[in-house]
Amino acid sequence: MSRIFESEKGSIARAGLLEFAGRLGEPSAEELLRWAVEGFRGRLALSLSFGNAEGVVLLDMLSRLTDPAGVRVFTIDTGFLFDMTRRYRRKVVERYGVALEVHGPRLSVAEQAKKYGERLYERDPDLCCAMRKIEPQRWALKDCDAWISGIRRDQTPQRANTPQIRWEKRYGVVKVSPLAAWTAEDVEEYVEEYDVPLNPLLGKGYRSIGCEPCTRPVAEDEDPRAGRWSGTQKTECGLHFAGGKVERAVS
Ligand code: SF4
Repeated sequence: MSRIFESEKGSIARAGLLEFAGRLGEPSAEELLRWAVEGFRGRLALSLSFGNAEGVVLLDMLSRLTDPAGVRVFTIDTGFLFDMTRRYRRKVVERYGVALEVHGPRLSVAEQAKKYGERLYERDPDLCCAMRKIEPQRWALKDCDAWISGIRRDQTPQRANTPQIRWEKRYGVVKVSPLAAWTAEDVEEYVEEYDVPLNPLLGKGYRSIGCEPCTRPVAEDEDPRAGRWSGTQKTECGLHFAGGKVERAVS
């Protein structure tokens, strides 16, 4: 079986994925999106961070393939996002006319500070991410059968073996990653060709954007994700990998 497919036996066979994987090998992003929309209609959600370009590229691609209203679109607002990211989010919502679901953590920033102390993200970022990202993600996906993600293999060493389709046990959904095989250059070309709007922070030295306290701009010769949780061993929030401690491509 090619890298396209990874699952727990029996969990996905019902969705026809085996047949699909065998028939197409490694399909294009558009083919995979079309297949996911047709196969999981009404039970499928696209997640966007509004930090990087990939999510909006997928939203744009969806808008060209089908009615984006047929697919749920959601984002997680941790309460720690850049104001510029929220402004950009409004612009994207307007442009694509999408009914965006915004999911957030149980505790407000102030409530979290009262219960766990100020700046938990500095003392225990894994706990902070678990409460402010992963738990809301579970809520967002609880009625879904499939999740479309913008993850790419060349983003980090741990993402290098990302299959296009896998069973995501933690959320109980099929995870579809249409851009798994894309490079940063592929994303740039798509953005240019279709005039996809980008988070303005990407033009200010930020090349991977998450929560404001855990993101800094990076130098030209740094790994794009070096500005995430800079100065710590953490490189993943845990949305894509349990544990989340992986090596940066360049440190
Ligand atoms: S990225 Fe930082 S601020 Fe955001 S949830 Fe994780 S630890 Fe908290």
